[in-house]
Amino acid sequence: MSHRKHRLEVLISREEISQVVTRLASEINRDYRGKPLLLIGVLKGAFVFMADLVRQLGLPVEVDFIRLSSYGAARESSGRVKVVQGLKTPVEGRDVLVIEDIVDTGITISFLLDYLRRKKPASLKLCALTDKPSRRQVTVSIDYLGFTVPDKFVVGYGLDFDEKFRYLPDICSMEN
Ligand code: 5GP
Repeated sequence: MSHRKHRLEVLISREEISQVVTRLASEINRDYRGKPLLLIGVLKGAFVFMADLVRQLGLPVEVDFIRLSSYGAARESSGRVKVVQGLKTPVEGRDVLVIEDIVDTGITISFLLDYLRRKKPASLKLCALTDKPSRRQVTVSIDYLGFTVPDKFVVGYGLDFDEKFRYLPDICSMEN
């Protein structure tokens, strides 16, 4: 696939993604056993994954979203994270599962987990579609993980580069 300047290669196909979403949903269903769950999606990257996942959960879930400062057009995290759009749902006393697209350095997600922990949820877990452990700077424990990816910039299935490529049904690596 070629998008003018950017050469994209399929790293994880839509079929593999679909199988993994089913596997994650059954793990989550098994662990929460019908308990009401608050899913918090990290915008914008997690929206496709969360939409697929939520339809396979046999649990009474509520969903909310949070938006954190992103890389913009850069491929490196600045290391500073801010809440750009906050939650509308109270978290205190709830079983909370954070849905993230990718854990890279770990800076963004550990900021978010600390932020949520201060709001006193009954429980707090993390479900990440992808993990790039080679670049980790902060220790993060991922309770439900889809895929481990190599040290490449990935796009598609919700993940963007400068707001492009979120719509791609496969996860692709950007080679250039
Ligand atoms: P971290 O703070 O863990 O370094 O970065 C996490 C955030 O950076 C993710 O939520 C995602 O928005 C962005 N990010 C990190 N690696 C990639 C990547 O390979 N592709 C895309 N599209 N975004 C990434």
